[in-house]
Parts: sequence; structure tokens; C-alpha cells
Amino acid sequence: MRPIINVSGTMTALGASIMVPEAIEAMAAIAPQFLDMAELHQSASEEIVRATGAESGIVTASAAAGIIIAVAAAMTGPSLPAIKMLPLRAKGIKGDVVLQGGHDVDYGNSLTQAIRIAGGTPVVCGTSSAVTAAQIEDAITENTAAGLFVVAHTTARTGMVDLPTFARLCHVRDVPVIVDAASEYDLRRFLAEGADLVIYSGHKFLGGPTSGIIAGRRDLIEACRLQNSGLGRAMKVGKESIAGLIAALDAWTRRDHTGIRQSERAALDLWQASLAGTPGLEIKIVPDPTGNPLDRLEIRVLPKSGTTATALTKTLAAGSPSIVVRGHKVDEGVFWLDPCNLHPGQATIVAEALSDLAGRLR
Ligand SMILES: *Cc1c(COP(=O)(O)O)cnc(C)c1O
Repeated sequence: MRPIINVSGTMTALGASIMVPEAIEAMAAIAPQFLDMAELHQSASEEIVRATGAESGIVTASAAAGIIIAVAAAMTGPSLPAIKMLPLRAKGIKGDVVLQGGHDVDYGNSLTQAIRIAGGTPVVCGTSSAVTAAQIEDAITENTAAGLFVVAHTTARTGMVDLPTFARLCHVRDVPVIVDAASEYDLRRFLAEGADLVIYSGHKFLGGPTSGIIAGRRDLIEACRLQNSGLGRAMKVGKESIAGLIAALDAWTRRDHTGIRQSERAALDLWQASLAGTPGLEIKIVPDPTGNPLDRLEIRVLPKSGTTATALTKTLAAGSPSIVVRGHKVDEGVFWLDPCNLHPGQATIVAEALSDLAGRLR
């Protein structure tokens, strides 16, 4: 395989994140063992409770699986006959899942497909750029199983109703609120803002194995667990992932977040200096759009540079080692360098590649 330096972020297409050593060790240790899986799930729940402040928690195969299972749980509650029937809805099972137009995102599959896999019916309020509280109120009916709220850089940045308001509108009608916070560092905020269930990815900022977390209300987590006897079975999470995630969560609570932030900042400063003064490039350090404690270097490629963002990112990716940037907006002439997945020494290699690039544009 070609070696890759990841300055893109935690991307499934690149292998997600650098797994922390604690997770790797825990996975290797449990791999040859037999154990009571219910006990292991219980330990995981306790670790999730410690990290999030939730009543209870469960490990899933991924955040994407967690969304499907959470929706299924909100629909069926603890009813095993209803769980066994999904994605068909047993008589009397509510199926509408209300979400805002600007939250109808794609993270590999679309959120609305996740709802449909669970047997739910997506009810999208407003448009991709504007939603009012009244539109959400109107969308909630006798048949609403859940409200689904997304926190991600891919949602609409403006025009949406915020989580505390969304949660209040749902709760006055006794509708549980599910929050997809797969990429968010803050393990407590969304529960505090009204989420009944919140979903995180295990293999993004946490540096765990491929896995997901659902944290929240005890009765709903129990309904999530019961989905393992239904559509959750095809999304089974193994002992090695559960053990790895427990270790990653524990490591997260003890991680030197300030030190990591400082070394990320040093990488950004170095890269900015490597490109400084290049004609036709606008370079600045920008904060994460959803408020994670993470900055990135933004590089805007102006026409007067004589090149394009697409050409520059292709050159970086074609080098040896290949440097893969955050390039989802190259068509708009902009890309980012994300410092959160670097091994020691890689920031310098990236800086040298950037200096080369700048040299050719001068
Ligand atoms: C990454 C992501 C997902 C999917 O997470 P996986 O754990 O990789 O399945 C879902 N929603 C959002 C907002 C994400 O950023």
C-alpha cells in the first residue's frame, strides 16, 4: 500500500484515525479470550456513563449503525414483537422521524436512508436553508417516533433551529430527541441541551476501533440493546471493538488535550510559514465550524495564482509519501490542512511539500 500522510481529518476513506495504543493493547488482550458478552456490554455502559454523564450507554458497530439502532429503539421501545418485525412496523408503532431540511446530510449514506433502514419515515421540515419552529411544531403528530438533530460541518450553517429549541418542541409532545454528534469532541453538551440519545463515533476523535456510542436515557438504551435480536444483529459489534472502545474512552479522559492542541498549532504555524507570500494564495488559520477544539489551515487559491485548488491537491496527493488534504470544496477554490492525525515528524514532511509547491508558484 502507498504510505499516506493524512491532513484531511478523520475520514473513513483513509482509515478513520490513529488508534490510541491503549485501544490496540485492549483489543489484542481480549481477542483470544472467552467472556460473558453481557458483562462486557455492562462495563462499556459504565465507561460511557462516566465519560458522558448519561444514564446509560451502548457500543455499536459505528455511528452510522448507532443512528439506525437509535431510531429503531425510539419506534419500538422494549416490544420484542415490534423489534422482530422491523423494518416493517407492527400495528400501533409510530414511525415518523422529524428532522430539519439543513440536517438532511450524507456521511457515506444519507440520514434519511438510515431512518428508512430502521423502518421509519423521514419527515423533513422546511428547506435546506430555512426552518422555523412553527414548521417543526406542525410536523410533530400522533405518529412521530423521534426528532433527529445533526451536529456536523455538513449541516446548513444558518437558518436552522438550535438544539435546545428543537428539544423543547419535541419534549412538549413527549417525543424523544436523537442527536447525531458523530464527529463532536464534547461528550456532555448535547445531553445537557436536551438530547435523549446522543451518538458518537468511536474511531474519530476518540482514536478507538471502528465503533459507535449511543448514550442517553436508560429505557431507550435498553430498547437499543434489544435491537440486537432484530435488525441490529447485522450490525453486531464484537468483543475486540467493545474492549478497544472502553480503553479509548478511558484514554480520552486522561489525554493531554492542551499539549495536543499546542503541537497541532505548531504544525499549522509551520505550514502557514511555508506558504507565506506565495502570489495568488490566501492562507489563514480557521476554527472548526462546529466548535470542536481544533483549528485548520485554510488555503484559498485565487485565479491570479495561475493554478487551481484541484491541481495543488492533486500534486500533494501524487507525491511520495502521498499527502491527502481536506478537499471537499476544491471546486470552490479552497482546501484545508487538518493537523489532528499526524505522527511525529509528519508535520515537517508536509511543510517541505508545501515549500516545494510555493516555490513553483513564485
Ligand atoms: C462520521 C459521521 C457519521 C458516521 O460515523 P461512523 O462512525 O463512521 O459510521 C455520521 N454522522 C456524522 C455527522 C458524521 O460526521
